[in-house]
Amino acid sequence: MKKYQHLLNIIEKEDKFLLTSHVNPDGDSIGSLLALKFILESCSQQVEIVLADSVPGYLEFLPGSQDIHSYQELPVDLKEESYGVYFVVDCGELSRIGEVEALLTEEDKIINIDHHEDNEEFGSKNYVDSTVAATGELIYDLAVELGVNFKSDFGTAIATALITDTGNFTYANTSAKTHRIIADMLELGVDTQAIITEVYGKRSFSNLKLLSKVLSELQVTAQQQIAWLSVDQSTLNSVQATWEDTEGLVNYPRSLEGVEVGILFKEVAAEETRVSLRSNAFFSVNEFASYFGGGGHARAAGCTVEAPLAKAEKMVISKLKEELGVGNAGDN
Ligand code: 5GP
Ligand code: MN
Repeated sequence: MKKYQHLLNIIEKEDKFLLTSHVNPDGDSIGSLLALKFILESCSQQVEIVLADSVPGYLEFLPGSQDIHSYQELPVDLKEESYGVYFVVDCGELSRIGEVEALLTEEDKIINIDHHEDNEEFGSKNYVDSTVAATGELIYDLAVELGVNFKSDFGTAIATALITDTGNFTYANTSAKTHRIIADMLELGVDTQAIITEVYGKRSFSNLKLLSKVLSELQVTAQQQIAWLSVDQSTLNSVQATWEDTEGLVNYPRSLEGVEVGILFKEVAAEETRVSLRSNAFFSVNEFASYFGGGGHARAAGCTVEAPLAKAEKMVISKLKEELGVGNAGDN
């Protein structure tokens, strides 16, 4: 039997689909959503994408991204619409779709397509495969099974999902399958160079100023197993940057030679600190993040700590030192 047989039956039967993903959407969530929308539309279905947050500026180049609704600005008729199926993609926990959960009134209509190993299987059908680098790889498989005639907009969405979730093919999740899909997309005429320029090569002045300010305050433990950066509201304001400008910053502490865990702390509110965690070789940051109510992948995870920035930093770093067996004497 085909892997997505059940989905194929549903797609034939239903005609109105609601698609969503996690708060603070990234390239994999937006790329997967758009690619899935193109697939469903090629089957003549009606599709709406609704997210708790708006599309980040660096992904606005994606064809179709302007049709994505943020829940805040969702027209009343679409709020009251009855959808036959809800697709939740690239999201390990249902609560991570934020306010959009209000639209998912019937649990048995939820279809969960994801690649987080700690996925809570909240759907009536769960297509979870943590061996793939990006949810976009699963959406690509679905398109192949459906026999969809790929168009280049579909390819751009899929390639963006793969490029961003593999950090431009630098992370350990990058596989032969990832490269094969990219090869197919290149043959389709997708301009991967242009995608990479859009995502990584169009920094604003504020963005670079923020980088320089934040990097100058880099902190490490004595033996450099843990390195971290912090961004507070006043630093952000001082260079007219936004939270979007912190995307990718966590890769700097991670790239320090010898570091196992790199962290980015963000003061999103007086009593709320967002934490991004990355590891290089062995430490499971998703397990660590779950201690603070978060999750993610073994090498990339996140959590929110309900505490002011300085206190959250202390809590996370001291717990991490404990877990990693990093000594306290004399180090910071
Ligand atoms: P980031 O640090 O880029 O926000 O997230 C890294 C990875 O961890 C992503 O796969 C993201 O979905 C996941 N993640 C981030 N924050 C959370 C969280 O609070 N809960 C869970 N379950 N996953 C998270
Ligand atoms: Mn993903």
